[in-house]
Amino acid sequence: MMNYDHILIRYGEMSTKGRNRKQFVQKLSSNILDKVKDFPKVGIEKSRDRMFIKLNGEPPEPIIEKLQRVFGIYSFSLAVKTETELEDMKKGALFALKALAYEGKTFKVTAKRAYKKFELDTNGLNHAIGSHLLINTENLKVNVKEPDINVRVEVREEATYITCKDILGAGGLPVGSSGKGVLMLSGGIDSPVAGYLAMKRGIELQVVHFFSPPYTSERAKQKVIDLAEKLTKYGPSINLHIVPFTDIQVAIQKQVPENYTMTSTRRFMLLIADKLREQEKGLAIITGESLGQVASQTLQSMVAINEVTNTPIIRPLITMDKTEIMEIADRIDTLEISNRPYEDCCTIFTPASPKTKPKSEKINFYESFFDVEQMVKEAVENTVKLKITGKSVKEDDLFKELF
Ligand code: ATP
Ligand code: MG
Repeated sequence: MMNYDHILIRYGEMSTKGRNRKQFVQKLSSNILDKVKDFPKVGIEKSRDRMFIKLNGEPPEPIIEKLQRVFGIYSFSLAVKTETELEDMKKGALFALKALAYEGKTFKVTAKRAYKKFELDTNGLNHAIGSHLLINTENLKVNVKEPDINVRVEVREEATYITCKDILGAGGLPVGSSGKGVLMLSGGIDSPVAGYLAMKRGIELQVVHFFSPPYTSERAKQKVIDLAEKLTKYGPSINLHIVPFTDIQVAIQKQVPENYTMTSTRRFMLLIADKLREQEKGLAIITGESLGQVASQTLQSMVAINEVTNTPIIRPLITMDKTEIMEIADRIDTLEISNRPYEDCCTIFTPASPKTKPKSEKINFYESFFDVEQMVKEAVENTVKLKITGKSVKEDDLFKELF
């Protein structure tokens, strides 16, 4: 019996070649399987240019919803699988079309032969299948230029797949195909968006959050957990490293002149994030910085802050306006969480007038009174690691155990 019991997946970024392509395909298929693991009957077949999900009776809707968030997929479609044999293809195409509200619509057939030895060429296939559809339906017209329905027939040696509707995928590269990175995640609007965009380019995230109890509340931490959870919708589970930052912030308040506290705070954050990155074998650090947004995000500030490490720092939002960032935040469903009114550690310690053009010599001099290495080491040692699986870590009790 014919049925829409397969999903055909088309890859993004077709420029990936050779050995890279193999890795791309491997990563994509394992990421898809990870997302559909609640549907154990689902099977997957992969080839160099397509992937085929066999539903085996599992419901398509929730699986489609999950696939829309898997990076590396350009588009996908529910598909009818037939034999690579003309009569069967015709039947399959008719079934695929009739399952839709096709009446009064226009259509065309687009055959594609991955199996070059098939007896008919693409034109021959388009005609043969197209006329079969016309003969066996009513109130359906051909429109080659702008059809309402494009009946795509993908002829492969082992089987043929027929689809009538494309669903747009998330694009990008499979998460993990570019390596690991550490996202500095505050409770604000920007950093979750930066994390999402880094994932879109194939980076698998570890997340670091600096937490300053009692100046910041448990609620602020819940925000970060909820944000990290939103990010898991686009990739695997995420390790969230919560760094106790109070001691360092208090030390900075005492030691560093007020207009340089922000610069110093950022430098410590970066140093600690870098240590955690090293532990987790990450290759880069990702932040939500956007040029000129606040005092710490001038180019001069970035120079002074960035001085503490050579690790690549990826700033996906650097050239974006706030409205553009907010649009993405809204789309990925983090905006509402970020807008919750809990203070983060930086808002509380922010000086009235932070330096917008900090000087390296000055900040280095102020920090020379610290045992920086020891302070970083202690913070890293006291860091608490939580695994965010996307299955809702909401128990408030969790925190009582932590601090
Ligand atoms: P966001 O909206 O992400 O909070 P922001 O516009 O408030 O960013 P800043 O406060 O200057 O900008 O922070 C710049 C970046 O530093 C953040 O995007 C984030 O990557 C990192 N950061 C700031 N505070 C923290 C924190 N408490 N924990 C982890 N990372 C942080
Ligand atoms: Mg912020």
